[in-house]
Amino acid sequence: MSDLNKLGLAEARDALRKGETTSVELTEACLKAIDAADALNAFVHKTPEIALERAKAADERIKAGDAPAMCGLPIGIKDLFCTKGVPSQAASRILEGFKPEYESTVSQQLADAGAVMLGKLNMDEFAMGSSNETSVYGNAVSPWRRGNDDTQLTPGGSSGGSAAAVAADLCLAATGTDTGGSIRQPAAFTGITGIKPTYGRCSRWGIVAFASSLDQAGPMTKNVRDAAIMLEAMCGHDPKDSTSADIPVPNFEAMLTGDIKGKKIGIPKEYRMDGMPAEIEKLWADGAEMLRDAGAEIVDISLPHTKYALPAYYVIAPAEASSNLARYDGVRYGRRAQLAQGDGITEMYEKTRAEGFGHEVQRRVMVGTYVLSAGFYDAYYNRARKVRTLIKKDFEDVFAAGVDAILTPATPSAAFGLGEMTEADPVQMYLNDVFTVTVNLAGLPGISVPAGLDKQGLPLGLQLIGRPWEEGDLLNTAYALENAAGFVAKPGKWW
Ligand code: GLN
Repeated sequence: MSDLNKLGLAEARDALRKGETTSVELTEACLKAIDAADALNAFVHKTPEIALERAKAADERIKAGDAPAMCGLPIGIKDLFCTKGVPSQAASRILEGFKPEYESTVSQQLADAGAVMLGKLNMDEFAMGSSNETSVYGNAVSPWRRGNDDTQLTPGGSSGGSAAAVAADLCLAATGTDTGGSIRQPAAFTGITGIKPTYGRCSRWGIVAFASSLDQAGPMTKNVRDAAIMLEAMCGHDPKDSTSADIPVPNFEAMLTGDIKGKKIGIPKEYRMDGMPAEIEKLWADGAEMLRDAGAEIVDISLPHTKYALPAYYVIAPAEASSNLARYDGVRYGRRAQLAQGDGITEMYEKTRAEGFGHEVQRRVMVGTYVLSAGFYDAYYNRARKVRTLIKKDFEDVFAAGVDAILTPATPSAAFGLGEMTEADPVQMYLNDVFTVTVNLAGLPGISVPAGLDKQGLPLGLQLIGRPWEEGDLLNTAYALENAAGFVAKPGKWW
């Protein structure tokens, strides 16, 4: 077989089981593609020795007829996941040199399911960003371009390296994490599929914390079937994470029938934003039509507190981040600043944190500390928490009225050029998350499915939001949408 790196998880799994290829061949094809794609800056720590060793072990298991779900399938891991003995820096200078003594639960589960780790993927520093431009490793670059224009585009963020690597076929799939949209937005920008499961589905243990009440891991894949396969391997109860849910994980792949007859799909009027590009409006209407043609009932719904979601998120997420990031003090992890004669512990903290954290992270720590301070706690943090409850209730009301899933655009635009937003006011960048943060605030599952191209030839995604714990049903609706949309475009290879 040729071009093995271009396969998806399901195709490669089936080929492996039929003996048409081996995991070593698949892994070598990916390693070669990775080495030829340094221009994308997607992989920031390559682990070819680990990959080949796991691939050989997988081939043995396949031969012995003992192949678990992801056996022999090469994937990339976002740098936010702690991987034993392998640099895990959350794309931050402050974690330079940090090689964890332990493995995150999710990456361990993937390894137990037989997956082969190719290396660590670029991201925004501590997962704060929407363009992968806050990384200490430098930007990840999208494999997509606007027609013949050679402007470098963002793959989205914060899981930008994961998105670029999957879209460019450097790996079969990758892990991402999503606090306010960081799986779904980069998936939409690069024409791939990304699902954030219900809060509590995947263990957060060993994933560098950003905002603990919002963070969830999830798969970024070439199609919906692959998302079902990989999500199942990532999910499950973990006693090491007290917010992980002790709820059985169904066989998600078996739920992909494509039959959505009689399902009620809500179209929330508050997601129709002023100044939304006509192409996004049209994509959204087309998506609703496709679901209707597949037998679903389309209903107009209202989620009245939507407009407060972004401000509430940008209070809650920095508040939690400022507290989570207090542990980086130059003592326990990674890098410590060079100290001068006579410097004490305060100088060590100050110097280490001033040079270890980038600007966006410093901004979030300051905002977070401010909204949690005694004088402003009620005005900002407590108010944001109340708004969060109302946002969650909006969704609960709609689901109680019989809606099975909600269809929205995934992003307010197609991918933008690197540098185009960084000069702007940071709020411009934050606006990217307008359709995704509500889902994190409410703890719901959400998936982005590639559904069309804009007039410059860039991918656009649609988001489906599901009921809590019903990822199987959500994946099936996404599968029906994927079948109807028939998105097959790939970036032209320039790197
Ligand atoms: N872009 C959002 C932020 O910067 C979301 C990031 C994420 O989901 N990790 O906070």
